[in-house]
Amino acid sequence: MKISLSNIKKIYNEKQVLDIDLLEIEKGKITGIIGPNGSGKSTLLNIIAGLDEKYLGTIIYDQEVINREIYNKMTLVSQKPYLFRRKVYYNIEYPLRVRNINKADIKKKVNEIIDRLEINELKEKKAHLLSGGESQKVSLARALVFEPKLLLLDEPTSNIDPESIKVLEREILRFNKETKATVIIVTHNLEQSDRICDNIIYLENGRVSL
Ligand code: ADP
Ligand code: MG
Repeated sequence: MKISLSNIKKIYNEKQVLDIDLLEIEKGKITGIIGPNGSGKSTLLNIIAGLDEKYLGTIIYDQEVINREIYNKMTLVSQKPYLFRRKVYYNIEYPLRVRNINKADIKKKVNEIIDRLEINELKEKKAHLLSGGESQKVSLARALVFEPKLLLLDEPTSNIDPESIKVLEREILRFNKETKATVIIVTHNLEQSDRICDNIIYLENGRVSL
């Protein structure tokens, strides 16, 4: 999915937190968004994800403005992921259950993603009892499992140990390569963006700077 943003303005309490004239996110690539705290990264992702409709400007997804079909093809993994107070397995299979996929396929896909992210030992745990880093892994698994056309990641490895970061980066790269999905990743880690991003956008005070 290609995304074209134009004249995006967002105001919180009389303060303008986003002011973007033109920004194109390339289809099928991994784009990194980098910028200091408060520069508007999460606000921008929320707007692209269709979760915040209070902004000015236009966003075009491929050729269309947001609609239910586009909304259903994208997902945001937020900085503080919300998980159901149920087992990890239930949380990961949820996006497939609501899409009416048959049980055998669900099981296969869920187990595959659990293997790939190396989170087998979390499978039977209650999701609300997980650590921050474990929750991030589970919410990435839940996002990857239904193969969105647009994957939005807000600092997905901020609470994660170095070994697990390698696993997550490997799986984000693999997902992008295998499904040709568009990925946008907010990260503070410049080495991470060098490792996995095709393009990088710098945000400063809500503006794109080069
Ligand atoms: P980043 O993710 O780059 O750290 P955010 O997008 O979260 O930055 O925030 C951008 C600016 O908007 C900050 O100044 C922040 O304080 C403000 N902001 C974010 N969310 C809200 C909100 N719900 N109400 C008021 N101000 C907000
Ligand atoms: Mg943020």
